[in-house]
Amino acid sequence: MADLERFKLVIGGKPVDALSGATFESQNPYTGETWAVLADGSPEDVDAAVAAARAALDGEWGQTTGFVRAQLLRRVGDLIGENAERLARLEVNDSGKLYREMIGQMNGLGSWFHYYAGLADKIEGRQIPSPNPNYLVYTRKEPIGVVAAITPWNSPLLLLTWKLAPALAAGCTMVVKPSEHAPASTVVLAELFDEAGFPPGVVNVVTGKAPQVGAALAGHPGVNKVAFTGATATGRHVAHAAAENLNPVVLELGGKSPQIVFPDADLAAAANGVISGVFAATGQTCMAGSRLIVHESVHDELVRLIAERAATIKLGDPMDTATEMGPVANAPQYAKVLHYLQTAQDEGARVAYGGAADDSLGGLFVKPTVLTGVGPESTIVREEVFGPVLSAYTFSDEDEAVKLANDTPFGLAGAVWTKDVHRAHRVAAKVRAGTIWINAYRVVAPSVPFGGYGLSGIGRENGVEAIEAYTENKSVWVELTGGTRDPFTLG
Ligand code: NAD
Repeated sequence: MADLERFKLVIGGKPVDALSGATFESQNPYTGETWAVLADGSPEDVDAAVAAARAALDGEWGQTTGFVRAQLLRRVGDLIGENAERLARLEVNDSGKLYREMIGQMNGLGSWFHYYAGLADKIEGRQIPSPNPNYLVYTRKEPIGVVAAITPWNSPLLLLTWKLAPALAAGCTMVVKPSEHAPASTVVLAELFDEAGFPPGVVNVVTGKAPQVGAALAGHPGVNKVAFTGATATGRHVAHAAAENLNPVVLELGGKSPQIVFPDADLAAAANGVISGVFAATGQTCMAGSRLIVHESVHDELVRLIAERAATIKLGDPMDTATEMGPVANAPQYAKVLHYLQTAQDEGARVAYGGAADDSLGGLFVKPTVLTGVGPESTIVREEVFGPVLSAYTFSDEDEAVKLANDTPFGLAGAVWTKDVHRAHRVAAKVRAGTIWINAYRVVAPSVPFGGYGLSGIGRENGVEAIEAYTENKSVWVELTGGTRDPFTLG
């Protein structure tokens, strides 16, 4: 165990062991080997982290101006760029995601901090006209307080950054609980905040194996806001826990996003976009375009193009830059994907490509899979797989395409593939989802809101508005005359 990397909790700016002294191990899903040992936090460690975050808010950090916060955010953004390679390797070790994707994510991650640095010194209240001339009224945008961030194992740092950057710009402090399946990069990121000059306690991290750690944080009475990314079922628990404290939540949950392909689309481009939507990151993305809703006249041709490309996808070592699809991130997820493949075939789905594990490489590999012979009632069409599985079915006219696209409890994302500009915008407006790409897929930016309708979540991350989610609005009334008034009337 001597060569294993070791990671502690980060509380009050210091690396610390869990109060119990317990640890847990993280496995690399490609090699199957344990590569890291992490502190196994408990609800008591969550208490300590929340107390540290509160102390920072009541101390130096609470007094910083937006201008100072902007400087610090810019510095941490730069530091992330300088440490991109290390952070990317940590994420690959933990989750098996491709180095070629993660190095891109890490090189781009700083831009989120730079974007919110640009907003930190522009958080303005208003001076509001009052019907009573004896009063000056203005509003203050104050930090909402201590924010709990609970994150999943796919793209841990990107999804954490969507919470951290606006919350810190607004002047909040944070306690982060990363996924037990991919916790290491979050610990190292927290250390960069110290290096950038953030006061101790602004960013705290509690790693832990048990769901009780996240649950303790979500329902902690010392927290003022809960930001969660993960599965819809967990999101419900988080929302219930937060509701006990009447805390607001932002929830980024699961999806079952449609790729709608009209007969006039550039089919080669659509096939490429569908591949990127469902096989990139081994399909383990919330925005996976897992439902291919294709016009009946081009179904066979498009499925052929996608299956042909799927057959050439290079599975293998996620650190090899030639690899296109890595393993599934962990054993429970691998079992879940294989179970869905079996269920689909039991329900009559036909396999145009894949449909099974790929045992030839060792590790938790599943073949990129294209299924036909499914319909809107099929389990594989209704439930989120979170793996490299595409389900294709047909429509005959635009109304039916929209109806099928909206026949889901989710509403995270989707795409419309057509060269008809009128139809493109018409359909984009009718599909109930937080993001629609037209002739594109899987593009995100700090400046563009992201989030879901329905069971895909509550609220939006990214964009100017995300700052609002981390502020309280205070109205201040100033009496101008110095006189008194009838104490028994209102206003
Ligand atoms: P998950 O819900 O199992 O876990 C997410 C986090 O919640 C982890 O840190 C986990 O430890 C914690 N947790 C578990 N039980 C908890 C509880 N009772 N209370 C509080 N926290 C608890 O999700 P996952 O398997 O890590 O990630 C995959 C899911 O995340 C998928 O459903 C995917 O669609 C979703 N996701 C959504 C987005 C988005 O932006 N909408 C992005 C990525 C992933």
